[in-house]
Amino acid sequence: MDFAFDESQRLICEMAERVARRELEPRLEAVSPDQPIQRELLLELFSAVRPMGLLAPRLPEAAGGAGLAMLDYGLMLERMPAALAISLIAHEGCIARLYAEGNPAQRERWLPPLVAGTAVGCTGSSEPAAGSDPRGVQTRLERRDGRLQLTGRKLWITNASVADLMIVTCRDLREPAADRASLTKVVVAPRGPACEVREIDTIGLRQGLLAEVMFDAHPVEPADVIESQAATEVLKATWSVNRPLIGLIAVGLAQRAFEQARTYCGLREQFGRVIAGHQLVQKTLSDIATRIEASRLLCYSALAAIDRGEGSAGRGAMAKRHAQVACQEAIWESMNLLGASGLATETGIERLYRDVRMLAIPDGTNEILALIHGRELTGVDALRGAPPRRP
Ligand SMILES: Cc1cc2nc3c(=O)[nH]c(=O)nc-3n(C[C@H](O)[C@H](O)[C@H](O)COP(=O)(O)OP(=O)(O)OC[C@H]3O[C@@H](n4cnc5c(N)ncnc54)[C@H](O)[C@@H]3O)c2cc1C
Repeated sequence: MDFAFDESQRLICEMAERVARRELEPRLEAVSPDQPIQRELLLELFSAVRPMGLLAPRLPEAAGGAGLAMLDYGLMLERMPAALAISLIAHEGCIARLYAEGNPAQRERWLPPLVAGTAVGCTGSSEPAAGSDPRGVQTRLERRDGRLQLTGRKLWITNASVADLMIVTCRDLREPAADRASLTKVVVAPRGPACEVREIDTIGLRQGLLAEVMFDAHPVEPADVIESQAATEVLKATWSVNRPLIGLIAVGLAQRAFEQARTYCGLREQFGRVIAGHQLVQKTLSDIATRIEASRLLCYSALAAIDRGEGSAGRGAMAKRHAQVACQEAIWESMNLLGASGLATETGIERLYRDVRMLAIPDGTNEILALIHGRELTGVDALRGAPPRRP
């Protein structure tokens, strides 16, 4: 077991750090920190990260993607601005699902602009009544007067307000006698007269793009229905990767807070010495660094296991939950070391706290992640309440 980066990983980290500091952050700092970014800016940011393979990291090179190891993908995301990182995960999820589930014609039509970063993708599963339990999906695909149409509401969809393409999970009611439990996916452009998009204001990641999309008999082309039997497996594989990735976004936020706090502690004087010289301040810094490092290693280990073909839902869930909780705590403690200055918006550290709070929800809330991990540890499914029979 080797805990050191190899040469290629070291270069990946340096490159991601350089692009983030020189190309991405200045562009994001030039616009309001409290408004969702415009589509033009998102496309500019996409174009800046495309050479690193961040638009289609999981797509094999033969299909035009970067074919990255998931650990390398994580090393880069850890260094990206958090709102952009969440957008990239949503975009990539759309690409990965199209590649895994789309037919050759669908792949040929949609993947090139998504991979090139000239089109923005998103995936819509959550709804007002379907959050942690995706079986509650009510959006329906129906046939009316010989035409297919989509009706329903999708909520909390990353990128939806600027997307060209959205994969919508819905109930398949195309046939009159259809099984109401059967789910399918369709690809639509989330715009037009039968579609209303509303941006949602949130506590953190305020430059991010979170929206509600309402479809009212939105037309769907028959060729845009994804007729895949592998939907559940694809979804599970996507979540297993996304969870440690989101954990690493939390690590990136906490690392920035820690660095700001450490610098401050070396400058601020109270009781005749820099506060870094007080024993409890040193202990707090040690606690913060420990929380960050433990989170980082859990997420790296979950991604490395996926690269070895040994990833599991429990491992990814454990990594994300630990990282989100520990990094939120680390940022809180960092803010505290700045005293009242930690509360002032001008120091920027409170923003990191609001941002990390957002990460407790997507791709599994902390409670759901504990149950996913618990299911793997015990073999008993507390979520669905049906323990497997004893052999
Ligand atoms: C930043 C962000 C980005 C997102 N991006 C997308 C996206 O691109 N596409 C998309 O489809 N969705 C997206 N979502 C939605 C996200 O997936 C859901 O919000 C999430 O699944 C939780 O659903 P919910 O908000 O309806 O909460 P609920 O499921 O209603 O949960 C409410 C509370 O009840 C708890 N709870 C629920 N069930 C149980 C249980 N069995 N045991 C114990 N506790 C339980 C939860 O942990 C939570 O605390 C995003 C959300 C956020 C915040």
